[in-house]
Amino acid sequence: MHVLVTGGAGFIGSHYVRMLLQAPGSSGLTVTVLDALTYAGNTANLADLAGDRRLRFRRGDICDRAVLDELLPGVESLVHFAAESHVDRSIEDSDAFLHTNVLGTQRLLDAAVRHGVRKFVHVSTDEVYGSIERGSWPETHPVQPNSPYSASKASSDLLVLACHRTHGLDVGVTRCSNNYGPMQYPEKVIPLFVTRLIDGLTVPLYGDGRNVRDWLHVEDHCRGIELVRTAGRPGEIYNIGGGTELTNLELAERLLAATGADWSSVRRMPDRKGHDLRYSVDWSKVRDELGYRPLHDLATGLAATVRWYQDNPGWWRPLSGSLASAPDRCAVPTGSV
Ligand code: NAD
Repeated sequence: MHVLVTGGAGFIGSHYVRMLLQAPGSSGLTVTVLDALTYAGNTANLADLAGDRRLRFRRGDICDRAVLDELLPGVESLVHFAAESHVDRSIEDSDAFLHTNVLGTQRLLDAAVRHGVRKFVHVSTDEVYGSIERGSWPETHPVQPNSPYSASKASSDLLVLACHRTHGLDVGVTRCSNNYGPMQYPEKVIPLFVTRLIDGLTVPLYGDGRNVRDWLHVEDHCRGIELVRTAGRPGEIYNIGGGTELTNLELAERLLAATGADWSSVRRMPDRKGHDLRYSVDWSKVRDELGYRPLHDLATGLAATVRWYQDNPGWWRPLSGSLASAPDRCAVPTGSV
């Protein structure tokens, strides 16, 4: 079995690659990572797997047809994580979002059809649904994205589903809630807060802090994706949630407590433009059809995540340094994942 993972040097993709290679019975597996190594890509995320001969890394752009024609022959499954993933960056300049998330996804689909890929899993987001005050979105809810990021992801979802209908490619689309865990680029709220608080710096909180996000441990997300890859029905969308909603105020409170800081470390910021109030996915479909359930509870998972950043400053210090020149853009205390 040969699996191609796009964006495998990013946060979630690298956890997924590790899960694949460490799974029992995976000795016959080959994994190719295709990653452009943008600011968010980091080969250090795969460093512990460097000696594994089943893993091949190729730096390249998913929009590059020649690279795809080089890599796709023989690939049976393609799991597509590569994306521009930060809402605030998309509000500033959306070009890279349209390039990678929209054009890149279509180029991958075309190449998958050309080379007879058997399964294509597209990793998307709950943000495509927009914002919901009460209840949770089922997969049948229409997409109503509110940022260039979420609009580009919704567009890519539609392209993936259209490819299934046009060419019969066996696709699965996953829409997950906010991920957290080790090795997340420190512009996203949890690593941003934790790394700044470790260094005794202030952290930025948008608006009134009442925006609600559902938190999902990255390893639970990866298990959900793997269930969709191996057992999901062709052409279906599966929501993947963590079952733990918090306001940003509640999240900030927990992170302050975990790092021994208090509210004097919090700077209030004007709200993000078009800031979605609440995301909430109904993930009963992936639970009932594929047996998914999150294994990490938030309190334990968050404590272990904070400990990981405390124990691994060598991973994040070089990255946080590059953020220092743009502190406001990196002020993203919401689920802009
Ligand atoms: P990330 O930003 O950490 O990683 C993205 C990876 O894609 C990086 O390694 C980057 O180098 C690579 N990449 C970007 N453009 C590329 C291109 N043109 N060609 C090849 N590689 C390219 O993102 P993440 O948080 O790991 O998210 C992975 C996927 O999950 C994304 O599709 C994102 O939309 C989705 N998602 C993430 C979250 C979350 O909480 N992080 C939530 C919902 C959905």
